[in-house]
Amino acid sequence: MATRRRSVLALQKKLNAFTVDLEEWYQGIEIPVGEWARFESRIHASTEELLDLLAEYSVRATFFVLGHNVPRIKSLLRAIAAAGHEVGTHGLCHTFIYRQDRATFREELLRAKGETEDVVQRPVVSHRAPYFSITRESIWALEILVELGIRYDSSIFPVQNYRYGIPESPRDLYLIDLPGQVSLCEFPVSTVKAFGRVWPCSGGAYFRIYPYSFTKRNIEALNRAGIPVNFYIHPWELDPEHPRIPLPRRISLTHYYGLGSTVPRLNRLLGDFRFGTLKEVIEHERPRLRHQAVL
Ligand SMILES: [Zn+2]
Repeated sequence: MATRRRSVLALQKKLNAFTVDLEEWYQGIEIPVGEWARFESRIHASTEELLDLLAEYSVRATFFVLGHNVPRIKSLLRAIAAAGHEVGTHGLCHTFIYRQDRATFREELLRAKGETEDVVQRPVVSHRAPYFSITRESIWALEILVELGIRYDSSIFPVQNYRYGIPESPRDLYLIDLPGQVSLCEFPVSTVKAFGRVWPCSGGAYFRIYPYSFTKRNIEALNRAGIPVNFYIHPWELDPEHPRIPLPRRISLTHYYGLGSTVPRLNRLLGDFRFGTLKEVIEHERPRLRHQAVL
């Protein structure tokens, strides 16, 4: 009876998106791709731990795979797809899109998407830019995304950050109308408004820095307002033992802070809220979504 009551409650809860940037611990800290070979690979164990955790709570997530890793993690990718998770793309080499030209971005995305699809045998329709690097300078990337078959995107962060953000872009999900009568659905990572500013509130370093009670309150408030949350995490955040290397202070602080708290906090998060894939949440919300011209 208790179990049934819990499952009825679970069904009444808002469906949020659980997303994973599937990359090695050294790939999102501005180390050039040419130097990656000298670092220890730890992606298998931490991703498997995350998969076990998601299975325990019957949660299906979206994994944005960095294309560079695909040849080395084929069996892991097949296991992710076989467990019912969505596989999206995180580009090829973790480059800031606004530092690339259009032709290079297109060529790399085409390769990353194609190689991923060859392994998982499913179309890849979801994308997250490395470092959320679709900004005003690289807004042209949206047209290339739809041209290559991407329908769901999670790259535009509605905050002001030294590396990313379009602060005045919508905080809720929205449809961006692009030439050729195509729409791309943008599902930004979730934020909260406080002290006259917009702050990230659902994932990455913020999940480790803020007390869990704060994250929980923010998600509850968004869900009460009818807004689904887009939560994100990296496998290396479940791996406190990964190597410590000297990094610029700003990067080092957020990268290594509170890694030991990730797993216990994930257990609470997955128990407290209902999660699905990015695609699932968007399709569920689509009837109410607003259209927006290119930002
Ligand atoms: Zn990344």
